This record gives sequence, structure tokens and C-alpha cells, in this order.
Amino acid sequence: MAPVFSPPLHRQRHQFVIDFVKRQKPQKVVDLGCSECSLLKKLKFHREIELLVGVDINGAIIKKKMHGLAPVSTDYLQPSYDQLRIELYQGSVTQKDMRLRGFDLVTSIELIEHLTLDDVERFSEVVFGYMTPVAVIVSTPNSEFNPLLPVLAGFRHSDHKFEWTRAEFQSWALKVCLAYGYDVEFTGVGKAPPGQQERVGFCSQIGVFHRLGGRESSNVLSDDDAEDGFSYTLLYSINYPSLRDNNILRRVLVSEVLYWAEKLKRRWMEEKTGERDEAEECLRASEQRIEMEEKQTVEQCGREVLEVQEGEDEEVFWNNRKGQQESCILHRSVSVPLAVLWSCCPKVSALSGSLSNLRHLLMDEPNVKLSQDGSAVLLQEQDLEEEEEEEEDNDVEDSGYGEASQCPHSAEQEGDWEANI
Ligand code: SAM
Repeated sequence: MAPVFSPPLHRQRHQFVIDFVKRQKPQKVVDLGCSECSLLKKLKFHREIELLVGVDINGAIIKKKMHGLAPVSTDYLQPSYDQLRIELYQGSVTQKDMRLRGFDLVTSIELIEHLTLDDVERFSEVVFGYMTPVAVIVSTPNSEFNPLLPVLAGFRHSDHKFEWTRAEFQSWALKVCLAYGYDVEFTGVGKAPPGQQERVGFCSQIGVFHRLGGRESSNVLSDDDAEDGFSYTLLYSINYPSLRDNNILRRVLVSEVLYWAEKLKRRWMEEKTGERDEAEECLRASEQRIEMEEKQTVEQCGREVLEVQEGEDEEVFWNNRKGQQESCILHRSVSVPLAVLWSCCPKVSALSGSLSNLRHLLMDEPNVKLSQDGSAVLLQEQDLEEEEEEEEDNDVEDSGYGEASQCPHSAEQEGDWEANI
């Protein structure tokens, strides 16, 4: 069946949540009845979220696609300062679990109509009375819209226990607000054809609940509540790499320092040996803007290294073994001052914070060789041609890596009638 809505209704529901997240910037979000985690997969890109949790009674449906929530290679290669932890649980929204308290946002998208009316009461108590999140988004079918849906007889899905009119949904929602201290706004997604919107309302009706008193209102756990403990089963958890993890910060800093130090060394050697040929210049001029900026920085810094060498004693920055220059060419090293790296390479300075911190962070790094006084990175002098050959080899390897690192994107499964509209 061709979708009735464009974009399809399930996307509109998810977009509604995403727009809310963009505006309200919640840090802890749980999606109840998360099914195949398709909403969670979209929410994970909103990096103000630090804890993203999914719950579904059906563990098998969670497991089907949960690995699509794992970090991809760019998350490891270019981690940010943001933190993200994802947890998935098998459990029922009619049961309490301590780990679900204290959230900023709970979403329940097309879930409540799968519960019996008794269980809807339990759901209300668990979500609004026990979890007490700052905000709750509940979406459910609006039965008044059903006559406009082609070839629909009965409910929109065989597992639905009810489908409410707008008045029924609003009556439940207002009772919840009164009982648990929330207020609610009613809206929806899936507009009716022109002229019919007021009469039938949205296809999916949505209630957006806000806890009275907002984030500041208290969220105290009674002794009875504390006994509920952990009733859900953890199926999956993952921490995204973050620069707030010291090990990751060091790893990124080291690779950045080595990358820039190599670039500076290369530039300096080109200047020194006069091997920059015109073809190379031409090629470089056609590189992307970002590469150009990088190159400008390198050139500027390269001159600084050069200036220092020429102004002072050359052996410090170029040949450590002046007397053995001819016979020990492989052992010569180039010295790149940390001060130059720190002032010329924005990412190095951002990651390290200060020059002394940079020195401190690099001190025990096995992959970085520092000069005896710790003020410079020492690099082995290498023949330029040799280096170019190596780069070519790396390019070949990189092309394979690029393919492997592509984000595994799988189409959402849209198995039922409800999902397809
Ligand atoms: N929220 C999903 C989305 O937007 O893509 C779709 C939800 S699907 C229509 C309903 C989900 O609710 C199913 O995955 C079902 O397993 C789950 N469910 C039903 N009863 C539940 C309960 N008592 N506790 C938790 N999940 C439940």
C-alpha cells in the first residue's frame, strides 16, 4: 500500500520528537516501546543527549537491529567532547525500574494503544508517578481520523487494544496531570485534507506533558519505590568515545602532534633541499579549502622552525651529530619545538590547553620521542622519496579502510499497516 502521508507518518512522529529535542536539549532521554530502535538511531546524533535509553517488552525485536546504535569509525577517529551512553532494556512499561528515574524526556510513540486499559493505568503510575521525568511525549492513533484512511476496517493494527477519539485521549491525559502534577498540550502529526482538519484532527494525536515546577521540582524516592530495584534486563550498553576520557584525549593528541610534526618537518626539509617542484605546487593549489588552510598553517609554521634554526645553532634542530653527518645519515633527527606545534596547530592547542600541559601529556607517550629537555618532538630524518613511497602505500590501504568505515545504514522495517501510513 502506498503511504498516505508524505513524509510517512512514522517519520513525522519521529521528527516531532527530534524537533522537541532540538528545542529543549534534554540530557537523558528514554524511549518506551522502542521496538527496532529507529527513533533512538536518529536521536543519537543529538549530542546534547548524554544518556539514551530504549525499553521494549519484546527483547527479540530490540536485538534485531540494536547493533546499528554502535559508534562508527569516525566516532573513534574524531571523537568530540560530548558524552553519550546508550542502554537498551527488555521490560514492561507497567513495571518500575530505578534506572529509569530522573530523566529529562520520556517518549512513548504509538505504545499505549497496545496496552489493556488496566495496563494504561499502570503505565501512568510508572511514568508520571514513579519515573517523574521533566517532559513526556505520548502519541497514539486518533480514531476520528480512521474513516479517512483507505481500506481500513477496525483498528489500525491487529495488536491494538483500543483507539481513542481526541476527547478520550484528552480525558486520560488531564486525569494524569491532575494526579501526578503535570500540564499538557495537545497536538499531532498527519494533517487531514484541507477543510477537514478541525473536524477529524491529526492522524496521530500527541500529548506533550511538562512536570509542574520543571527541572527544579523534587523527585524524591519513597522506601516502597526503592524496593522496586532493577526489574528490567539490560540487553545492550555502549559508551561513545569522548575526549573527556583521558586515554582517548591522549591518543588523539598524539596522532595530531605526530601528524603536524611530520608536516612541519617535511616542509622544512623541502625548503632546505629545494625539492619543492612546480608540479607539486600546482597540485596543492587545487586542493580543498580546508587542506589549503592546513597548508598555510604548515607553511607559516615551517618558516618559524626554519627561522629558529637559521638564527640559532643548527644542530639543535637538524643534525644532532654534526661530526658524523655523512656516515650516520639514518640516525639524524629533526627537532620540532613544542612551542611551534602549540601555537601553529589549533587542534593541538585546543586539546592540550597549555604548552606545559602539552609537554606533560606527551612525556610518557611511547610513540612520541621528546628531546632531553622535553621542549621538542624529535623525528627521524627520512629521505623525501622514501616518505612519498610510503604515503602511496598508505593511500592504497586507506581506500579499503574508507569502504569498511561506512556507516551501516539499514532501511527501517515497515512491516505493518500502521507503520506504512
Ligand atoms: N515506538 C516505536 C516507533 O516509534 O518506531 C513503535 C512502537 S510499536 C507500534 C509498539 C511497541 O510497543 C512494540 O515494539 C511492542 O513490543 C512494545 N510494547 C508493547 N507492550 C509493551 C509493554 N508493556 N512494555 C514495553 N513495550 C511494550
